[in-house]
Amino acid sequence: MSQKLEILFLPKEHKILQFNNHSNYNCEITADSGETYRVYANWLHNNKLDNWKGWQCQAGATRLMIDKNFNVYSGECKNDHLGHALEGFNMLNGTLCKQETCSGCTDDLMLSKNEQ
Ligand code: SF4
Repeated sequence: MSQKLEILFLPKEHKILQFNNHSNYNCEITADSGETYRVYANWLHNNKLDNWKGWQCQAGATRLMIDKNFNVYSGECKNDHLGHALEGFNMLNGTLCKQETCSGCTDDLMLSKNEQ
């Protein structure tokens, strides 16, 4: 069986990316065309496809990051400060991404996200 293959033109990057299913994958993406692909999350970061500013993201709902001073954030990206691990913090139901690019951390990249 042949793999799905799509050409995506990214004007800003002046390059052509080939989307296909990776044999080693950890997330599923849906392209603008509606096609879905299973890819390795860091491939998105390495190809500068991790610009999700303004998207809804599950950081703070299904993921937390606690730093060495026990500050609690919604992810490695520190999109939201949620409080202090010893003094109290609140989980989110999800967040609006405020970052220009995702953190490059696999766990942040793998979080469920969608365009508003
Ligand atoms: S930087 Fe990544 S993990 Fe953080 S809120 Fe934005 S999309 Fe989510």
